Amino acid sequence: MPEQHIVAIANQKGGVGKTTTAVNLGAALAQAGHQTILVDLDPQGNASTGLGITADQRTHTVYELLTGEVDLQTAAVETDIHNLRLVPSTPDLASADVQLAQTPDRTRLLAKQLADAPDGSIILIDCPPALGLLTVNAMVASSSVLVPLQAEFYALEGLSQLLGTVRQVRQGPNPRLRINGILLTMSDYRNNLSQQVEADARETLGDLVYPTVIPRNVRVSEAPSHAQPVLVYDPLSKGSTAYRQFATEFTARLKLVPEIA
Ligand code: ADP
Ligand code: MG
Repeated sequence: MPEQHIVAIANQKGGVGKTTTAVNLGAALAQAGHQTILVDLDPQGNASTGLGITADQRTHTVYELLTGEVDLQTAAVETDIHNLRLVPSTPDLASADVQLAQTPDRTRLLAKQLADAPDGSIILIDCPPALGLLTVNAMVASSSVLVPLQAEFYALEGLSQLLGTVRQVRQGPNPRLRINGILLTMSDYRNNLSQQVEADARETLGDLVYPTVIPRNVRVSEAPSHAQPVLVYDPLSKGSTAYRQFATEFTARLKLVPEIA
């Protein structure tokens, strides 16, 4: 039987495209026929909002999943996209670092819950912009980490700290953790700087960097205010095309065969 694939989407910098990637990769995978669950692990709840899950639909939340009050099947709600479910977040998650500090096994809370994920499913975890207890929980639960990098100056700064956290998790609670890859986001081809950042990233990080680069595209930034992935809001936009292409590279790295719809 195929195992589950659990991928943390992490970067301690805010505004680099983690949530946009989680929502649109999730949508692209679901549209390609993969059972996909997006876990919104950011107290800001942007992935929940971006998939149209309103505050009153968040009856069960990722916080209750962490504390063990509910299981994955109960916490994951259906979205408007077939095959895509979401574990919503609420602002109370912001106190998790403090609230869970004394809990035994506090870095394995999410891992225990995601062990129940259906075989063959893909779980994406949208991490908060920090390397605290929540992101560590995501890394302990995951088979790999996908790192969005915004194609701008200082993009590579902070990456060594992130890779250091991955190394610590690998040496400790989760030896099987791998780097899935680096995704360059918000690239502007009219801008020399974006091209320079891309060249630097490919030289430094080699094949870890995905061939597809996500362009800066206004339709991508408009989509969340319509509570939709850009793949639904404007399926033919440059952003949608790039995220679909990235999704095929992503599934190839997971060695998943495309499902016949
Ligand atoms: P993070 O989750 O890392 O904080 P987001 O995914 O929320 O980052 O992205 C930050 C902002 O940039 C959001 O307003 C988002 O809509 C916008 N954005 C992300 N990707 C793109 C893109 N390819 N083109 C245009 N705007 C984008
Ligand atoms: Mg985010």
